[in-house]
Amino acid sequence: MSVDLHTHTTFSDGTLTPEQLIEKADYQRLTAVAITDHDEIGALKYLNTLNSDKNVIVVNGAEFSIDVDLKGNAHLHMLGLFLDIENDELNNVLIKLKNARRERAYTIIQKLKEQGIPITKQEIDDVIGMGSAGRPHIARLLIQKKIVSNVWEAFSKYLSKGKPAYVSKQKLPLKDAIKLIHDAHGLAILAHPISLKHRRYKDTDVFLRELKYIGLDGVEAYYATHSPKFTKFLKESAARYSLLVSGGSDFHGKVKPDTELGIGKGNLDVPDDIYFSLKEAAQHK
Ligand code: AMP
Ligand code: FE
Ligand code: FE
Ligand code: ZN
Repeated sequence: MSVDLHTHTTFSDGTLTPEQLIEKADYQRLTAVAITDHDEIGALKYLNTLNSDKNVIVVNGAEFSIDVDLKGNAHLHMLGLFLDIENDELNNVLIKLKNARRERAYTIIQKLKEQGIPITKQEIDDVIGMGSAGRPHIARLLIQKKIVSNVWEAFSKYLSKGKPAYVSKQKLPLKDAIKLIHDAHGLAILAHPISLKHRRYKDTDVFLRELKYIGLDGVEAYYATHSPKFTKFLKESAARYSLLVSGGSDFHGKVKPDTELGIGKGNLDVPDDIYFSLKEAAQHK
């Protein structure tokens, strides 16, 4: 029996609605699934308004982009798991981030216009819906308009850092994100450490120790693109610094077609115990 503690819905840049995601998780007999939309908890609020007859446990989460100075396209994402989604401060911060993301999308289409690619605000608003805007939304429009043939091409020609339509986004300082998560009674989990692009495992080990010191609760050791060796190393590192272990696929639906719910690239398997240990820890927050 397994769980998936990192997924996205249409409330950020995923392509399944919250109901479709829960339906799928239930069909795959996952014990628990965390919804961790980028800077967004709307999917979880929406699910609370429904009467679900599904067995799968839904964990309240969100994924924050953190403002740290890293080399090249390395990036730091922080997951908040077991969040109190009614927390005022959390809601206030998320509204600001969400507005900033939409403004950024408008700036991106302005830059695309300068490249001779017309996308209207209305088209952007339609593809984003009521959720939080991300570059994959713009990629979808570029595909629809046959300007590129896939998401990868959209990023490598236009949207990635250093490309003509790149616009940076508003990010939270590391300590602020951890505090925000803790104040909302959640666990702060370092997402996909692979994206830190450290050259040596030792660098990640040192980094985890430093993050623990400023309040990190756990690390996403199991992840779709982590090798078994890296996962094993992260679990050992976590044990060394009394960090919890989490795991998930980062499922996005059709925009990331090679990443499947629960199993990632095919061999991801996050045991139920991971969820139960996190839940136990969250009860003391
Ligand atoms: P944003 O949050 O708007 O900066 O967009 C980041 C999201 O875009 C990530 O969560 C991924 O889902 C997706 N993404 C980033 N880089 C790429 C890439 N090179 N190819 C495809 N998807 C990407
Ligand atoms: Fe994403
Ligand atoms: Fe991420
Ligand atoms: Zn993610």
